[in-house]
Amino acid sequence: HKYVYDFAEGNKDLKDLLGGKGANLAEMTNLGLPVPPGFTITTEACKAYLATGREPDGLAGQIEAHLESLERGMGRRLGDPHDPLLVSVRSGAKFSMPGMMETVLNVGLNDRSVVGLAAQAGGNERFAWDSYRRLIQMFGKTVCEVPGEEFEHALDEAKRARGTTSDLDLDADDLRGLVDAYKKIFLKHTGRDFPQEPREQLDLAIRAVFESWNAERAVLYRRQERIPADLGTAVNVVAMVFGNLGPDSGTGVAFTRDPASGAQGIYGDYLANAQGEDVVAGIRNTVPLQDLERLDKRSYDELLGIMARLEGHYRDLCDIEFTIERGKLWMLQTRVGKRTAAAAFVIAGQLVDEGLIDLDEALHRVNGAQLAQLMFPRFQLDHDFEPVAKGVGASPGAASGKVVFTSARAVELAAEGEAVILVRRETNPDDLNGMIAAKGILTSRGGKTSHAAVVARGMGKTCVSGADEIDVNVPAKRFSVAGQTVSEGDVVSIDGTTGKVYLGEVPVMPSEVVRYFEGTLDPDEADDALVRAVHRIMTHADAARRLAVRANADTGEDAARARRFGAQGIGLCRTEHMFLGDRRELVERLILTRTDTERSDALAALLPLQRDDFVEIFREMDGLPVTVRLIDPPLHEFLPPLEQLAVDVAVAQERGEDVAKEEALLAAVRRMHEENPMLGLRGVRLGLVIPGLFAMQVRAIAEAAVRVTREGGSACPEIMVPLVGAVQELETVRAEAEKIIAEVVGDSGVEVLIGTMIEVPRAALTAGQIAEAAQFFSFGTNDLTQMGWGFSRDDVEGAFFWRYLELGIFGISPFESIDRDGVGRLVRIAAEEGRAARPELKLGVCGEHGGDPESVHFFHSVGLDYVSCSPFRVPVARLEAGRAAV
Ligand code: ADP
Ligand code: MG
Ligand code: MG
Repeated sequence: HKYVYDFAEGNKDLKDLLGGKGANLAEMTNLGLPVPPGFTITTEACKAYLATGREPDGLAGQIEAHLESLERGMGRRLGDPHDPLLVSVRSGAKFSMPGMMETVLNVGLNDRSVVGLAAQAGGNERFAWDSYRRLIQMFGKTVCEVPGEEFEHALDEAKRARGTTSDLDLDADDLRGLVDAYKKIFLKHTGRDFPQEPREQLDLAIRAVFESWNAERAVLYRRQERIPADLGTAVNVVAMVFGNLGPDSGTGVAFTRDPASGAQGIYGDYLANAQGEDVVAGIRNTVPLQDLERLDKRSYDELLGIMARLEGHYRDLCDIEFTIERGKLWMLQTRVGKRTAAAAFVIAGQLVDEGLIDLDEALHRVNGAQLAQLMFPRFQLDHDFEPVAKGVGASPGAASGKVVFTSARAVELAAEGEAVILVRRETNPDDLNGMIAAKGILTSRGGKTSHAAVVARGMGKTCVSGADEIDVNVPAKRFSVAGQTVSEGDVVSIDGTTGKVYLGEVPVMPSEVVRYFEGTLDPDEADDALVRAVHRIMTHADAARRLAVRANADTGEDAARARRFGAQGIGLCRTEHMFLGDRRELVERLILTRTDTERSDALAALLPLQRDDFVEIFREMDGLPVTVRLIDPPLHEFLPPLEQLAVDVAVAQERGEDVAKEEALLAAVRRMHEENPMLGLRGVRLGLVIPGLFAMQVRAIAEAAVRVTREGGSACPEIMVPLVGAVQELETVRAEAEKIIAEVVGDSGVEVLIGTMIEVPRAALTAGQIAEAAQFFSFGTNDLTQMGWGFSRDDVEGAFFWRYLELGIFGISPFESIDRDGVGRLVRIAAEEGRAARPELKLGVCGEHGGDPESVHFFHSVGLDYVSCSPFRVPVARLEAGRAAV
C-alpha cells in the first residue's frame, strides 16, 4: 500500500489523499515553481494510525526511502552534524483548518548539527541558534504538550535581560542561553531530555501531526464548519528554507485579490528576517507586501509573476505563503483562498469578465449562505457617531455588544443571552470558543491574514483586526483609545467592512443588497461592484433554475415584500392569525356554543373578516398562485392557558364577581385538554369534527377570489388541507369544499385548486391513493420530520441534539436541513407515486427546509416544482435553485 508520495507524484485533485497543502505543493512543483523538495504522507496513513494507535505496516520503510531520496537530492543528510538537512513537518487536511493543527519547523537540529548549520550559513551563529530554539519551542509545545507560555516567558526574560523588546536584538549568545533555558523547560515537563536523534524527532513530529487531527480545538472547528470528522490529515515533510538568515531574507503571505472586497491589487504582509509562523502570530509588525518591491525588487517581480500564473491556473483567488532566503524566492503553500461573501460575488463577476470562467461556473463560486450574509443590516451613520479607531476591515458585518476580554467570559455572557464583542491584542486557536460565542471580534494587532481575520471570515463573523490605536489590557479588563477607557461590559460597535470602531451602540439599516432586492437600488446605476455582481449572478440563476420559488406569507404586507424579493407566489399562507387579536372572542364563542345555530352565527361573524384578509393577499399576489392552508392548530391554542384561567376564576369568585362565562371557558379548556396536542385534534381532523369550520374558510377564500377577479385582478387560490393521512379524509373535505366553490364562483372564471399537505408519514406512503383526490401536494417537511423521526420539535433540540451531533448520528439538525435518507425518502416516494397516479400533480415544499441551501438541492433532484420559504430567504432559494440546475 502506498502511503508516501513525492511532491512530483501528486497533483491538485488529490486532496482527499494528500490534503489540500500536499496536493497544491505537488501542483506547484509540477508547474515548475520554486517549491522546496519534499514528500507527503497520506491521510490514509493518518486514519490507520488513529484507528489502531500505531503506524501502519510499511509506512516506516516508505518514509525511510523518501527521506533518503530527499537527502540525495539535497546533497545533505537529516541532522548531519557538519552539513545538516533540516525539514519541516506540516499538517494539511483536505479542508483548510487555519492554525488548528500542528507544524514543526527545523526538525534535524541538535547540539551538534546546530554548529554545522552555522557553518553552512557562512558562520551565522545567531541564525543557527535562533533556529534551534524555535525547534525546541515548537516541538515541545506541539509534540510534547509543554505549555507554550513557559517558552514565551523565557523569551521575554532573555529580551528583558538584553533591555529590548524585539527578538531581533538577541545575539548568538543570548539565543544559546535561551536554548539551555528551553531544554530545562522541556525536561521539567516531559521528564526526558530534548531528543537529539534527528530521525526520532521526525517520527515523533509525524505522529503528533496525526494526533493533532483529534485535538479539542480541531474537533470544535470541524463541528462549526461542518467538516466531516473522519477525513484525517496528511503530513508534509519539506526541506527547510530560511527566512531568518538576515535582512535579505524574510517570509510573507499574500492574496491574489483582496479577500475582503474582491478588488484587484496586491494584498499581503511581509516580515524581514523571520521564520514562517512569525507573520501570522503578530510577533512583530509586518510591512505591506508592496514594500517588498523596495527591499528586494527581483523577488518581488518574480512573486507577482507567480501569483498571476497561479490565478490563471486555478482560475480563482489564491492565497500563498512564501519565504525569501538570501534573495531567493521559495513558494511554501498555495490554495484557493477563503474570502468574504462580498468578495465571492465580486470575484466571480470579474473572472467572467476576464474570460476565465463562464456564468454557470460563476454560480458555483457563490452560495446561498454568502448571499444571506450580504443581507445583514449595516450601521446607520448619519450623525453623532465618530469612530474612535480604525483597523482592518477583516470580516464584514455590523456588530454591537458588550466588551469582553477573554474567551471564557465571552462564552459566559453569550450563554446569558448578551451580545458580546471579544477584544484581544491578537487571537490564537485557544480563543475559538469565545470567537464562536461573540457577535464580533476586535483585535489591536495583525492584518487581513491574522488568525482573527482568517477564522472570523471562515465563520462569517464580523471582525476588525489591527486597530492599533487601541491599547488592550487583558488582566485589567479594559482598553484605552483616544484618551478614553472602555471596560468590560461597556458597549462598542464594530464595522467589519470599513474597519471602524465606535463607542456605544450604533443603529443599523438595511444592506445595499437588500435595497437592491427591494427594488430601491437600480443595479445599472449603482456604482457598487457588489450590487452589480449580485444582479448579474441572480439573473443567471433565475434563467437557469427549474424550481420556482414561492414565499410563506400570511399577510398582505408579507406578500408584498416576498414579491419584491422575487417570490413567484405564496406556498404557505397560514390562517391561524386570522383567529387571533380581537377575533378571539368570536373563536371563544365558536368553541363554547352548544347549538348549531349559535355556532353558525359565530362562523358567520368570522367569515367577512377572513374574506378581507384574503382579498388583501390576493391583490398583492395578483396573477400568482396563493396556497392557503385551512386552519391547522388545535383550537385550545386559541384559548387562555389552563392555569391562568383557573387562577382568574378563583380570584373573581373570591371577589364575588359573576364568573359564569369564565367558568364555562374553564370547563371547555379542561374538556379540550390533550396530552399530545401535536398528535391530537388538529388539521383535517378539525374540519371533520367541527361542522362548518372549513366550509367558512373555503367560502371566505372563494368569495375573496371572486371579488379580486371582478375588480379586474387575477386570483389563483389553492386550498390546502393539512395533516391528511388517508385519502378518505381528503375526499370528505373536498366534496364539501367543491360544492361551496361551485356555488360561490359561478361564472366568474375563478379557478380554485384543492390539494393537501404531505406531512404525515402515512400520507407519503399512500401518496398514489391521495393523489387521486388532490390537485397538488405540498410537503410539510417540519411535521414530516417531526413525525418521521418521532422528535417533538419544540422539545428535543435543546434537550439532546448536542449529543446526537457529538456522536455524529446527524451532522446538522434534521429540522434545519432535510434528512435525505429518511424524511427525504418519504418525499421521494410520495413525489414518484403521486405523479404516477396523476401526471399533472403540482409538487412543492413549504417547510423551513425550503430556504435551506442543501435542502433546495435535494428538492431539485427529486423533481419538485417549487420551494416556499420565508420572504427574506427567497433570494437565497432562487440562487440555490439556480446552482442546483447548472
Ligand atoms: P499552517 O497550515 O498553519 O499555515 P504551515 O504548515 O503552512 O502551517 O506552516 C506554517 C509556516 O511555517 C509556513 O507559512 C511557512 O512560512 C513555514 N514553513 C513551513 N515549512 C517550511 C519550510 N520547509 N521552510 C521554511 N518555512 C517553512
Ligand atoms: Mg500555512
Ligand atoms: Mg404541519
